[in-house]
Amino acid sequence: MVVTRFAPSPTGYLHIGGLRTALFSYLWARKNGGKFVLRIEDTDKARNSEEATQAILKAFEWLGLEADGEITYQSKRDDIYAKYIKQLLDEGKAYKCYMSKEELTELRETQMANKERTKYDGRYRDFDGTPPEGVEPVIRIKAPLSGEIIVKDGVKGDISFQAEDILDDFVIARADGSPTYNFVVAIDDALMGINEVIRGDDHLSNTPKQIVVYEALGFDIPAFYHVPMIHNSKGKKLSKRDGATDVMAYKEMGYKPEALLNFLVRLGWSHGDQEIFSMEEMIELFNPKDINKSASIYSTDKLDWLNAHYIKNTPNNELVELLSDYGVVLTSHDKKEILLDALKERAKTLKELAEMVNEIVIAPESYDEKAVKKAFKGDPIPILNAFGAKLTNATELHLPSDYHALMEEVVNEMEIGFGKIGMPLRVALLGKMGGPNIDVIMAVIGKEETLLRIANAITANS
Ligand code: GLU
Repeated sequence: MVVTRFAPSPTGYLHIGGLRTALFSYLWARKNGGKFVLRIEDTDKARNSEEATQAILKAFEWLGLEADGEITYQSKRDDIYAKYIKQLLDEGKAYKCYMSKEELTELRETQMANKERTKYDGRYRDFDGTPPEGVEPVIRIKAPLSGEIIVKDGVKGDISFQAEDILDDFVIARADGSPTYNFVVAIDDALMGINEVIRGDDHLSNTPKQIVVYEALGFDIPAFYHVPMIHNSKGKKLSKRDGATDVMAYKEMGYKPEALLNFLVRLGWSHGDQEIFSMEEMIELFNPKDINKSASIYSTDKLDWLNAHYIKNTPNNELVELLSDYGVVLTSHDKKEILLDALKERAKTLKELAEMVNEIVIAPESYDEKAVKKAFKGDPIPILNAFGAKLTNATELHLPSDYHALMEEVVNEMEIGFGKIGMPLRVALLGKMGGPNIDVIMAVIGKEETLLRIANAITANS
């Protein structure tokens, strides 16, 4: 059974790079009927926060990415790590190192002066003398001194690391007994039965160390997929300014979860030239072997395009619910269907959609000067009054076409072009140019409100 995982460190929010590897891991587990588990890597007590853990879980909930089984917290597994440290010590695969800070600094300085790689020199590897007094030892693992470590990577192919160049007997437990990062990651992945590790390629340099731990403990080594980073349009690592922000900020900006997930799945993975993927399709088609070898490029335009697609295809009753998060309550609005049908084709984000709704349902408080200048250039007041009179007398006004018919009557009777009524009417209704068809706006706000806005505009602009 395929078991994948997402293992965030709760030092900050979940950002989209992390979310992408989480998504890949989730899809691959689901495709194989396997498991996707969540492990919170909260061992760095100084930098972790419960708030960040909650933020990560909240983001998962928003996106509908459900993890299987209980969440594992590294902070609760000290006993397990201690057991394996003891095992390695007992088996002679790890040892206590009594080197003091000063000695370590001195070694570093000498190595740097000789232009050598700075590494621990193994001075306590085979030590059986009397330990120096007053030094709490760290525990180091016996790493291979020579030969190569091959990371079989499903994205990049086999990557060979020379033990001599990259390894030393690295610390697996600090002087206070706390285990170190690469040690616990390897143990957890093994004990949690993770057999396919999909993670960012910024972790590639950790993998040989983790393999050393797997081998020392006799654990099976999982399959690795190291996913290239996401770059901005300038080919640089994505920064906060480009969009590497908290995933929940995307909600605030008005993106739908399905748009964000669809966007992320295409960052570094493709299936022919298909752009739109439902969750079902992603699960059916995703394979980490198809992840691109090179970095992917983040594009806000692409995200907006996808979001517009998903908004357009969201049923109106769902939109009503979603819009309540952006301060727009349409639940009991009797013309919400007409309104949303007209607007959802035009909005790139839910936030934008909410603004568009407000621009229609809330009467303008002021009038855009330029728009007034243009729309009230000739004298539109007799036209607006003629239209108002027709409105007042009309009884059956429901659909945009009912309002349109009245506008047409005015145009025909006064022998004017449509723009002569359309432009001033638009400014009267919205306070500015732009927006959907005027007949739609009138149908949505209704006869009385239309009359009121016309009267107000005449007063304000004559
Ligand atoms: N905790 C690591 C991080 O947040 C990920 C560890 C891993 O995926 O192996 O970057």
